[in-house]
Amino acid sequence: MNTPIRVTVDRGICLSSETCASKSELFGNSPDGLVYLKGPDGVLSEGPVDVGEASLAGVRSAEQSCPSGAITVTVGEADPR
Ligand code: SF4
Repeated sequence: MNTPIRVTVDRGICLSSETCASKSELFGNSPDGLVYLKGPDGVLSEGPVDVGEASLAGVRSAEQSCPSGAITVTVGEADPR
């Protein structure tokens, strides 16, 4: 069984640095400059978006390099939905 990896972003504190977009294709910036997540269905949102283990290094790097702490990555927690 795969470990659940869940990513969320808080557009309310995003500083539009676009650092995250250079770390993982999951992240993008809308015309207003704020971050969004690209869901598997192509829908852009604040998440949560679940990703596979192959994406973990990239999303962790984005989380750690975000200057505002707007990115949250949780690994292995129960699905609250
Ligand atoms: S790295 Fe953080 S502050 Fe910069 S665009 Fe991404 S979420 Fe926003």
